[in-house]
Amino acid sequence: MSSRFLKHLLTERARLLAELSTLSRLLHGSWVERYSVCARLDCDCHQGARHGPRYYLVINEAGHQKQKYVRHAQVKAAVQGLAEYRRLQEIVERITQINLALMKEELA
Ligand SMILES: [Zn+2]
Repeated sequence: MSSRFLKHLLTERARLLAELSTLSRLLHGSWVERYSVCARLDCDCHQGARHGPRYYLVINEAGHQKQKYVRHAQVKAAVQGLAEYRRLQEIVERITQINLALMKEELA
């Protein structure tokens, strides 16, 4: 590994680590949209025009799945939070590759 390439990897890793700190609103969960019928028997929802969507975030709490209702006003923030979590995963994968390359170099 050339010193130039080594420097490139260290710079990229530093940039990724800095980016991690920007993912402050991340949310780890699955997105669920639900449509429902109500108790009013004469309501259109019983003819197929169901109420909704209502949004939920399915998260894991101590090994148990929990559904958290997401208010309409928070939908955009929640979707953004899920995107930030995906970015977190990408960064972790990339830093893993960089660190493996650096480890290989030290062993060579
Ligand atoms: Zn209804």
